Amino acid sequence: MVMLIVFTIIILKISDDEEMKIGRNDPCPCGSGKKYKLCCLIKKRNKTYIFKVKLKYDKSTWWKIEILPNQTLHDLHEEIIHAVDFDFDHMYIFCMDNKQWASEVEYCDPRCDFGISAHEITIGELNLKSKQKFLYIYDFGANWVFEIDYVGNGEKDGAGDYPRIIASKGEAPEQYPTSE
Ligand SMILES: [Zn+2]
Repeated sequence: MVMLIVFTIIILKISDDEEMKIGRNDPCPCGSGKKYKLCCLIKKRNKTYIFKVKLKYDKSTWWKIEILPNQTLHDLHEEIIHAVDFDFDHMYIFCMDNKQWASEVEYCDPRCDFGISAHEITIGELNLKSKQKFLYIYDFGANWVFEIDYVGNGEKDGAGDYPRIIASKGEAPEQYPTSE
């Protein structure tokens, strides 16, 4: 009986912790000797994601966008549209295995009647692999295709407003080029 209670308490304690495996008060697995909550858990929560967003057909133009793990792909979409200075009238899709319209995992504009809403998925939940590439397609008529590279991580700066553009190169294309 006592064993069962102890076991139940342990299970509750573990499931209460969002990290699931390492307890907040456990020694940090990095070997620092500090408690996990005072060491790598802070680092993990303060970690930012850095994406390089390129025009697929003109790779000389790009932006580096830094975003927090608890922000969503919809936030990333908004930052890309701000970067290129397009209007927000059109729908978008993220193709996570980098295949245009043939991706197994797609996150879409919340107005789309297919795929999973990009509002529902945070950057942290994507479980991105280092150097992973994926596509962002905006305006299914004009078909603006952007290639996104997961290029690294940063550390959250308390005063920072995220997502944000940390570097860029080249000129944003014209959204509605004239035919002359
Ligand atoms: Zn640590």
